[in-house]
Amino acid sequence: MPSPCWLLDEKALKNNLKIFEYIKNESGAKILLALKGFALYKSFDIIRKTLNGCCASGLNEARLAHEEFGKEVHTYSPAFKESEIDTIASISHHLVFNSPAQFYRFSKQAKTINPSISLGLRVNPEYSQAPKEIYNPCGLYSRLGTTLENFDQSILQMCDGLHFHALCEQDCNALEDVLKNFEAKFGNYIQDLKWVNFGGGHHITRAGYDVEKLIALIKDFKKRHNNIEVYLEPGEAIAWECGDLYTTVLDIIHNKIDIAILDSSAEAHMPDTIIMPYRAEVQNASEANKKQYTYRLAGNTCLAGDIMGDYSFDEKLKIGDTIIFKDQMHYTMVKATTFNGINLPAIAIKRENGTIEVIKEFGYEAFKERLS
Ligand SMILES: *Cc1c(COP(=O)(O)O)cnc(C)c1O
Repeated sequence: MPSPCWLLDEKALKNNLKIFEYIKNESGAKILLALKGFALYKSFDIIRKTLNGCCASGLNEARLAHEEFGKEVHTYSPAFKESEIDTIASISHHLVFNSPAQFYRFSKQAKTINPSISLGLRVNPEYSQAPKEIYNPCGLYSRLGTTLENFDQSILQMCDGLHFHALCEQDCNALEDVLKNFEAKFGNYIQDLKWVNFGGGHHITRAGYDVEKLIALIKDFKKRHNNIEVYLEPGEAIAWECGDLYTTVLDIIHNKIDIAILDSSAEAHMPDTIIMPYRAEVQNASEANKKQYTYRLAGNTCLAGDIMGDYSFDEKLKIGDTIIFKDQMHYTMVKATTFNGINLPAIAIKRENGTIEVIKEFGYEAFKERLS
């Protein structure tokens, strides 16, 4: 295997999909893959068997969904562009606008291009328990979704559905509270609609998630609203714990502490460890000073803060050792950059029979191509 390399675990992905299959069957909801979080399209053959399609954040993701996934394409963007709307409309099944103004600007054009397209509006339930403000679509001055105050009932003549997205890595108690707020604000408008989209952020495949309660919430909602179609569009939960990032120790230096420089980068390859921030789990390692040898694991760029964290190991690290960051499939390759000219990690899939297929390697061309 090349290094660095993302290794998708096919078996783990299939196990996650079994949970989604069960939820679909029991609740009657449709489930989409949010490409924003995970878009390794060489795995779509596996995912397509279970999920109903993809949700896209604009033209490029919609095209990827159309070309590589098939099935339903649902496209939402905070703002669509005139130059892109025709193509988006021609390949999307659902088109979700962020504001009544965008709805009016583009709905007729979209219907002309694609008469069977289903139009919707993203609303802001103004309630979220998101763990951090950067992940709170319902925070003060949020641009994401239309608040009740700005809702324009006249769009309902052409509108088939409402969409909300207010969760981030959350359980279904949080969903239950968001639903209460959504229904208190927009419940009166649901009656004649065809669908409601509950967005993403459902941490469905995390151990301890109450799948039965989610199913009950969906069934109750459908019962209250004439068996309306319900969509979920998780990203992270599809690829949760489905693969790791393999890296190599390039050098070990000492500046009051031991520092291992890896051939990867927190900034370029695992940016959420810096943005969110969170601490990735490392295979066979513990918190600093729990085991005998503690190292700061750091990236191979010139950014001083390019640090994955401090970890301890039972044995001394050596140059050439492999360091494995766990659960690095979601919000990694979709966000990765070639900052500092660092190579993008290769992408590989570990098949169910144990064989490893390297499906993509990146080099100088991937770096150069984006710069002019
Ligand atoms: C980010 C996002 C998702 C997916 O969220 P996850 O946290 O990855 O499940 C779904 N829908 C919308 C509108 C989003 O912005």
